[in-house]
Amino acid sequence: MMAPMLERFVSPGKGNGLRAAGRIRKGELVISAEPLACCVSNRLAKEVCHHCFTRHESLLRCSQCKMARYCNTTCQKQAWSGHKRECKCLQSLLPRLPTDSVRLAAKLIFALLSPSKSSSEELYTLEEHESHLTSMPEQKKQGLSQLASMLELYLQQEAPDLLQEMGSALPPSCREPLSLIAKVTCNCFTISDGELQEIGVGLYPSLSLLNHDCRPNCVMVFEGTKLELRAVRDIDPEDELTISYIETLSLTEDRQRQLEEQYHFTCHCQRCDSRDKDGLMLSGEEGKWRLLKEALPRLEGLKAESNWETLLESCSHLLSSVGGEVPEENLYKLRITDMALDASVHLGRWEEAMSYGVTTLPAYRQYYPDPHPVHGIQLMRVGKLQHYLENIEDALDTFRQAYEIVKFTHGEDHPLTTELTMKMKECHSEMDHHSSSRH
Ligand SMILES: [Zn+2]
Ligand SMILES: [Zn+2]
Ligand SMILES: [Zn+2]
Repeated sequence: MMAPMLERFVSPGKGNGLRAAGRIRKGELVISAEPLACCVSNRLAKEVCHHCFTRHESLLRCSQCKMARYCNTTCQKQAWSGHKRECKCLQSLLPRLPTDSVRLAAKLIFALLSPSKSSSEELYTLEEHESHLTSMPEQKKQGLSQLASMLELYLQQEAPDLLQEMGSALPPSCREPLSLIAKVTCNCFTISDGELQEIGVGLYPSLSLLNHDCRPNCVMVFEGTKLELRAVRDIDPEDELTISYIETLSLTEDRQRQLEEQYHFTCHCQRCDSRDKDGLMLSGEEGKWRLLKEALPRLEGLKAESNWETLLESCSHLLSSVGGEVPEENLYKLRITDMALDASVHLGRWEEAMSYGVTTLPAYRQYYPDPHPVHGIQLMRVGKLQHYLENIEDALDTFRQAYEIVKFTHGEDHPLTTELTMKMKECHSEMDHHSSSRH
């Protein structure tokens, strides 16, 4: 059942959308939703429970497909009705693995075929989902065609009559593998963990109605596979509810290109129209920051390879040579400083990590005027480093700032907020201990 806080409407120039049915306060939970279908990414298949999406050192493996993994027999049992058909498909393709979107599309079909999962209550049905096939560049369409063939192969082997079964049970636009794959790729959400690391993909049909804005009034946060949508500003009745489909910390030109490529629309939000923050992101002398900008692709390559030593060396060299003359809020400098933070954390060089982290905070504050999970997580990371290095007072201050964000983006009951509250308590008791031992 949909909460009465939001309703469907036609958004001028954007098609379907969701708007506030009444006044919504900053930090309020607008809706929480379980996915119609979801799956752990192949990349993390060995590290995350395929039922509850929790990370574990050791997981129980499905003895049949040898792919699905679970925390324990309880998770395995609960997952079985959804995994049964998938398990056969996976076995038939071994040792090959279908891509994440093929697995998700198959799981969606299984969910639609099982009557218990019928989603008649949804505000938005799969039938209405956009596939964008007509407006798609030929090259992208070819990529999707390949996925569609893989989907057919993957499904066919489970039961030869499945495609026929699909015919009568599914809405017409979902019977055709190509349009189904197109809908799945356009409408799926990335499921991330507390640290905002991507762990899987899921379909939450009603929430696909949310339109994009580069300065949205809502954010999505996950707890396991449950999606929670919260307001990050006060919202008036009938105002459209928006989220950002992409990372907002980038230039207007880059955001617009990414939205066109991935979501097939041109963003005309207020932030795009006013090119808000572009000037700040490009602050400093171009002759200096250009070198930082040009170094980014190579550094990103090193990061993708987890080549932390070389990455840290390159970042620290760039930051101390050209970087010194570029302001901290410059986007390219900020990206490099963040990479240096990542690399030092991976190498266990905590002092360096802390100093890089601290350097990024004023820029984060400027670029995230509303509470944003990315900003909250960055503060938590830095706070943990300060705490570990026994800068207790700084740590407490950083944790407090994180709390002021996370209480809105994640809510008071989210495990991440609980963890943060614990950290603040630890800081308090350590400070009491220090002051009493001095006397
Ligand atoms: Zn589990
Ligand atoms: Zn299995
Ligand atoms: Zn925009």
